[in-house]
Amino acid sequence: MQLHLFNTLTRQVEPFEPLEPGKVKLYTCGPTVYNYAHVGNLRTYVFEDILRRTLEKFKFHVEHVMNITDVGHLESDADEGDDKMALASKREKKSPWDIAKFYEKEFFKDADALHIVRPTLTCRATEHIDTMQKMVQGLIDNGLAYVVDGNVYFEVSKFPEYTRLSKQNLDDLLEGARVDIDARKRDQRDFVLWFSKSKFPNQIMKWDSPWGDGFPGWHIECSAMASEYLGESIDIHCGGIDHISVHHTNEIAQAEGYFGHKWVNTWMHGEFLVLDKAKMSKSAGGFLTLKGLIDKGFDAVHYRYMCLGAHYRSELKFSFEALEAAKNAFETLKNRVVSWKFDPKKGENSGKKTEYLKRFDEALANDLDMPIAMSVLWEAVRDAELGSEAQLELLKYWDSVLGLGVESFDKPELSAELMALVKEREEARAHRDWAKSDALRDQLLEQGICLKDGPSGTDWYLRY
Ligand code: AMP
Ligand code: ZN
Repeated sequence: MQLHLFNTLTRQVEPFEPLEPGKVKLYTCGPTVYNYAHVGNLRTYVFEDILRRTLEKFKFHVEHVMNITDVGHLESDADEGDDKMALASKREKKSPWDIAKFYEKEFFKDADALHIVRPTLTCRATEHIDTMQKMVQGLIDNGLAYVVDGNVYFEVSKFPEYTRLSKQNLDDLLEGARVDIDARKRDQRDFVLWFSKSKFPNQIMKWDSPWGDGFPGWHIECSAMASEYLGESIDIHCGGIDHISVHHTNEIAQAEGYFGHKWVNTWMHGEFLVLDKAKMSKSAGGFLTLKGLIDKGFDAVHYRYMCLGAHYRSELKFSFEALEAAKNAFETLKNRVVSWKFDPKKGENSGKKTEYLKRFDEALANDLDMPIAMSVLWEAVRDAELGSEAQLELLKYWDSVLGLGVESFDKPELSAELMALVKEREEARAHRDWAKSDALRDQLLEQGICLKDGPSGTDWYLRY
């Protein structure tokens, strides 16, 4: 089946063909490790995970590279404000290196809890300064960048296709750039490739460079590291939609200005998770994290399930009601799967499985249409004609993309009272007291607990 993906460059859903048959070079912009990821950030990583898993399901070998931004990302995505790492260092009275180490670890804890597959390769900006400097020098040599007071700027007017991704009008960009004037820039739309002490005199993280001690701009990090590990041509590059107009626009200008040819074939962007601004903004302090959801009694996978309910190109409104609904749906699904595991049955029409498989794949192939894929799943879950054996097979197969952890679903936890009844029945069975054992089985069934005796003991699942 042909996979189709929406390409931000063309604003169209296109048949996806990698540069090299069977292989996909995928780059996703990684976290800036100055604080915990908020649930909005995590939605983007879940989208990228679904993309990666779908590519693999469609039999592509995926080389997935993700960066860790541990220097150079200023408060605004343009060249304004302080370095986020330096701000965090002041806030927490720790060195920026310790901040980066701590939040990188926390990021991967969240990603693991959300069943996000780890990238094939993760690279830290601070460990690739040479690669970035090489690219910056190359851009100066190509006449696309200039040095003033130890800062290196990319000269936007020298790259005529600058707004190819954002489709913005260059004149409108000038309006936006007038907020915080940098007198060193030839044109306020130019952006920084290398910051030196003339802009940040007290920066702790800094490196020698031909232009002065300093640190790289955020955008050059991704262009340089993506190219170092994936080469001069990349199949897919992703991030959240906020990256279209500045970060990815600048990445294209740098990489194509350096290599002299097209760099990325397909650009993909995840829409935002929205909730009221204060809860989402890291600078406002009290933003919503995965831990915040867990503290309220949710599992990370409930949030993952919630993300699957919206198309990645649609805005998703966060609310605890919506998360509660996702939790209930997920728990219902889990209970069904457990019942199938312990009580597999052949259905009168298990052959329908092929049709379900096709429909699910068609949804994925249509630009990762997860809401449709999930509706196919629920149809199959409710289709008794399939039989629990075929239903379980479907769920296990689809879970390679859904990442809900179907293989690990096990017996539900029971209250102490119910557990005591299960134990009492086990003892009755051990003493061959079948009458008592049957009575206890009925008593449990009345409370919605089905028992299944097997060679390794008794299992149970919830009646539905
Ligand atoms: P950052 O760590 O700030 O570089 O952001 C990490 C990722 O989260 C980037 O791909 C952003 O585009 C994305 N992102 C930021 N805010 C949101 C949001 N509210 N919803 C979805 N994705 C977001
Ligand atoms: Zn990036």
